[in-house]
Amino acid sequence: MTPVFRFAPSPNGRLHLGHAYAAMRDYDLCRRAGGRFLLRIEDIDPERSRPQFEAAILDDLAWLGLVWEEPVMRQSERMDAYRAALDRLRELGLLYPAFMSRKEIAEATAGPGWPRDPDGAPHYPPRDRDLPAAEVEHRLAEGARPALRLRMDRAVAEAGDLHWIEGGADSNGTDERRTADPAAWGDVILARRDVPTSYHLAVVVDDAYQGVTHVVRGRDLLHATSVHVLLQHLLGLPRPHYHHHRLIVDATGAKLSKSARDTTLADLRADGATPAEIRDMVGL
Ligand code: GLU
Repeated sequence: MTPVFRFAPSPNGRLHLGHAYAAMRDYDLCRRAGGRFLLRIEDIDPERSRPQFEAAILDDLAWLGLVWEEPVMRQSERMDAYRAALDRLRELGLLYPAFMSRKEIAEATAGPGWPRDPDGAPHYPPRDRDLPAAEVEHRLAEGARPALRLRMDRAVAEAGDLHWIEGGADSNGTDERRTADPAAWGDVILARRDVPTSYHLAVVVDDAYQGVTHVVRGRDLLHATSVHVLLQHLLGLPRPHYHHHRLIVDATGAKLSKSARDTTLADLRADGATPAEIRDMVGL
């Protein structure tokens, strides 16, 4: 089976050196594995996504030397698929509408010892987990727009022990079996108030839809993989191999700031940098 890799940028700004490293690392591993390379634009956030950023990202990636299959997938065009996944989780009794505002969450979780997720955000309070159906209907009739959250305790109980293969794409390293700990995230959000999906849901649904076999991405998403393998299990989707690479922003970003240059590829290109020099800068 031909391996399938993907790069999945969010069109929220220009690419910087950290993205360049991520894209080239991904692409190198794909080519070494003789894989297919796909691009996915993660534009579920209507507030932050801009078509001009998408165009600029494609231009930067092509300049770096990446070649991908057409058509490029856009998550904004995939809402029906996310709704179908939400329906399935709802049928399994694993979703609930979450009404608390950011302010209410902050107040309810302010005390010492409130559990926090691996990104440092407080777990969602249990308040909405078992609202009576009549109360939910009443709030909806009043115009409340809830988010949808996963009943993590039930989901974890249903799934049992889950693992993933880390490092599968990295020919320099050996594969490791990692144990998932999705409960560390609490009741994760699966659909936002304004969009019928979330990062976690969309990435899992789309990796499966695109037949992705190798997910290469930054270490900042290592812990999120626990949620992803749980959702794959619940939705009956195949599990790719994962490779979480080092992050570039701090080390090289700091070095470059000494020369008072921005680290966006746009600036570096305008300054006459070549793709080979970019590779050098990020240690590839
Ligand atoms: N869209 C995410 C980002 O820009 C990447 C998601 C992923 O690779 O799973 O950071």
